[in-house]
Amino acid sequence: MAERKIYIIGGGPAGMMAAIKAAEVLRESGDERAGDRIVLYDKNDVLGRKIYLTGRGRCNITNMRPWSEFSTHIHPNQNFLKHAFHAFSNSDVIAFFESLGVPTVVLQGQRVFPASLKAADVARSLENRVHELGIQVRRESVDIKGFDRMFGDGIVILATGGKSYPVTGSTGDGYEMASSVGHTVTSLFPCETALLPYGYDRNLEGIELKNVSLSLFVDKDKVQVEEGDFSFTNDGIESGIAYKISRRAVWALMNGQRVEVVLDLKPALSKEKLAARIARDVVQMKGRPKASSLLRGLMPEALIAPFLMADKRAIEIESLPDALKSWRMKIESFKGYERAVVTAGGVSLKEVSQKTMASKMKPGLFLAGEVLDLDGDTGGYNLQIAFSTGALAGSSAAKELLTSSQAI
Ligand SMILES: Cc1cc2nc3c(=O)[nH]c(=O)nc-3n(C[C@H](O)[C@H](O)[C@H](O)COP(=O)(O)OP(=O)(O)OC[C@H]3O[C@@H](n4cnc5c(N)ncnc54)[C@H](O)[C@@H]3O)c2cc1C
Repeated sequence: MAERKIYIIGGGPAGMMAAIKAAEVLRESGDERAGDRIVLYDKNDVLGRKIYLTGRGRCNITNMRPWSEFSTHIHPNQNFLKHAFHAFSNSDVIAFFESLGVPTVVLQGQRVFPASLKAADVARSLENRVHELGIQVRRESVDIKGFDRMFGDGIVILATGGKSYPVTGSTGDGYEMASSVGHTVTSLFPCETALLPYGYDRNLEGIELKNVSLSLFVDKDKVQVEEGDFSFTNDGIESGIAYKISRRAVWALMNGQRVEVVLDLKPALSKEKLAARIARDVVQMKGRPKASSLLRGLMPEALIAPFLMADKRAIEIESLPDALKSWRMKIESFKGYERAVVTAGGVSLKEVSQKTMASKMKPGLFLAGEVLDLDGDTGGYNLQIAFSTGALAGSSAAKELLTSSQAI
């Protein structure tokens, strides 16, 4: 009888971590040739292709916030991740990479990066560990028939990722595979993506704003406020706090709701303080200075003209504080999966054991990473989801393999 194997579909961070942890568990049980029993499939020549793009090429591996804070950045069900996180936490991820010769550094916002600030170091260290453990790597795309056949002699870990950045190989194949064995796939939508305001002024492109605040209004209700940085790009408002509000904004737009964003360029100053500062500047400049002169020092130079042109408003000095604190932009659309950092929605968490990542629908199936209905904010949360769920799926699958081998 052929030896049972563990088949892992998807060689991203979740799949590679699953393969590594499965091999380590088998080795600890005394199986010196553990790698031969694990087959990792990826359609790309290079494993973890998306990792090379992460964190703008720097790879924000995880976030050092304690679980009580970390969990507030996980959607839609933080509790689902709790067990996996504690089994392989943010500190474990750091220790893991340090053991692979990738020292890390904690930067602003508790975000953890490789000390080299090179995403390639993270991707290569994972791939090297996969090879070091003798794991069988197949550079092939698995189709639904192949997926089905794997259950003949194996345990399967589905780690195909979501649909974002399909050029990296994440084309949503796993949703169909999971559905074929009875899983529910919740509504999918691009998340952490650019939001395009109506009549977007292309002169804004390239401007980066720091320490500002964005409030999100859905059907006139204020539903979220975020403070920090974001950029105006060719696709609209993007990155940082714009990504943070994009999850709710995209969902609302998909549901035909009215979405508006209000930008406060000076969140640290009340309207009164701002008015007093402008009045002081008016006195110093003598006469009646132009609004554009007063705005110098209050915003990046490049922003002044588009700011004054916005909504074709001819801003009087008296109305500057209001305009600075509430620049309203109605959102027309959003950028799709081709530019979205993450896919929201996925395989229903109700159908997966949070203790093992085993499917409750199909014996011998485990799931990990973005294919699940689990996503995080920007800040290292998504890779931690991939690493924690991947590690748990891999070790659980290996334990199941060991149990079934003993039973024969
Ligand atoms: C531009 C960008 C920047 C990001 N930056 C960060 C960051 O700094 N920090 C952070 O935490 N998160 C970041 N993310 C999100 C993070 O990269 C993902 O959430 C994470 O990679 C998901 O891991 P995964 O293993 O589940 O899926 P993926 O990384 O998508 O990997 C899935 C793999 O499965 C393979 N595959 C798919 N279907 C098949 C098939 N049928 N047969 C064989 N192979 C298949 C694919 O080729 C792919 O390699 C970023 C994402 C993007 C797009």
